Amino acid sequence: MSALPQTANAVPTVPLLINGEWVESSATEFRHVVNPATQEVLARVPLATASEVAAAVASAHRAFATWRHTPIGARLRIMLRYQALIREHSKRIAAILTAEQGKTLADAEGDIFRGLEVVEHACSIGTLQQGGFAENVAATVDTYTLQQPIGVCAGITPFNFPAMIPLWMFPMAIVCGNTFVLKPSEQDPLSTMELVKLAVEAGVPPGVLNVVQGARDVVDALCTHPDIKAVSFVGSTAVGTHVYNLAGAHGKRVQSMMGAKNHAVVLPDAHKEQTLNALAGAGFGAAGQRCMATSVIVLVGAAREWVPELVAKAKTLKVGAGADAGTDVGPVVSVAARERILGLIASGEKEGATLVLDGRNVEVPGYPQGNFIGPTIFTDVTTDMSVYTNEIFGPVLVVMGVETLDEAIALVNRNPFGNGTGVFTQSGAAARKFQSEIDVGQVGINIPIPVPVPYFSFTGSRGSKLGDLGPYGKQVVQFYTQTKTVTARWFDDATVNDGVNTTISLK
Ligand code: NAD
Repeated sequence: MSALPQTANAVPTVPLLINGEWVESSATEFRHVVNPATQEVLARVPLATASEVAAAVASAHRAFATWRHTPIGARLRIMLRYQALIREHSKRIAAILTAEQGKTLADAEGDIFRGLEVVEHACSIGTLQQGGFAENVAATVDTYTLQQPIGVCAGITPFNFPAMIPLWMFPMAIVCGNTFVLKPSEQDPLSTMELVKLAVEAGVPPGVLNVVQGARDVVDALCTHPDIKAVSFVGSTAVGTHVYNLAGAHGKRVQSMMGAKNHAVVLPDAHKEQTLNALAGAGFGAAGQRCMATSVIVLVGAAREWVPELVAKAKTLKVGAGADAGTDVGPVVSVAARERILGLIASGEKEGATLVLDGRNVEVPGYPQGNFIGPTIFTDVTTDMSVYTNEIFGPVLVVMGVETLDEAIALVNRNPFGNGTGVFTQSGAAARKFQSEIDVGQVGINIPIPVPVPYFSFTGSRGSKLGDLGPYGKQVVQFYTQTKTVTARWFDDATVNDGVNTTISLK
């Protein structure tokens, strides 16, 4: 393994990883990785060339020939070493993640930890990647299934979880016996690359994990390459739909986890303090840039009177640089993201929603350039307003009021997205009705961000997901393997010759 290349430029260039070598791209186009609190340029990211993408896929294709036959024990022992290394380097990587993405250090450690849990789960591959066996499906005939790796898989990841989401993908793909080409977010690939370095250190062999940097052209090249068998995408709905259609049209298995509008339904019997804490944390944590962030609060009946307390709770949150102690809400990822969010807040006002908390003019001493927006809350929101129809992906909550739980359920079910939702109540009967009737893939009961732990799968639904099988858990073993069914008869010497069977039945 060669050392990371140094460049003559003031900032480092993010390398590619091809066949176990750190490669400086010969790209002519670059993007900057920028600290969202300070605008300091941390690195430049090449938009890899077509031949570099082809080389990465070719390397993965070659490596598959041997990696697919590597014993399960050897694969899982690499994951055992990998989880230990991630644990050891978590704080150091969290600092890099905060610098490039903006979230608080504690949340950056959480980002890494939720990914680490997937690596821990990958260590159980011996019991996860098992086929089935039925003895005597006919006389002396047995049928069994093999869960075989499918080949070269690709992963395309978003900016908001640069640790967790890459770790949703390549560890499970690799431990199943596949090889992988990862395309990290061009906005914040530095912490992802630290995790890739640790995977190499843990013993992932050359070619088994490759990384190409870039944006649209690289993604399209991966989606159309004949040697790629499966594509995992996480990101926005527009791009996820494009990836699903393009890769699907090129014969690949695809899973696209996409945008969201997550409603939290609050019944008047909910524990008020716990609920307000949960809503403020889930709405404004990570500056609202989580696919499972609460973005709509539906107050039912008398809970509609809780708005002043929700506003008071939001005001207790400290806006600041993610690296500074005491910060609750960091900056949003980029100047462009801030502009987009400010535009949506302006349209909310214009369309008649009431701005009960305005975070637009928040000032953070020492960080005049930061992309900060303070917690912002709208009431009097209707379903046709742009603050409701768009995924804002910023620290903005919209609050709506309804009379009954039935109305709340109907409202949530009319929204096209199905990533996450929650109900806050002390009533088991109400919670059970909600979980049964709500048409959303991930439900929290007094839990604001119900992202499943990795022994289950991430199960967003409807407009938040394309493809049947979700990331991690048992579903992703199905996604990253091809089921082969074998029907076998072994004749022993005493078998009687019972003639030619011209029927479809096994005899
Ligand atoms: P994005 O769609 O802009 O980018 C995701 C990836 O696609 C990046 O690697 C990017 O380089 C690539 N890309 C961007 N434009 C492209 C194009 N035109 N053609 C091909 N590839 C392109 O998403 P983002 O802004 O990085 O992430 C935020 C979005 O991700 C939000 O919508 C959020 O809800 C969603 N998200 C969803 C989940 C989930 O599990 N459902 C999890 C995290 C984030």
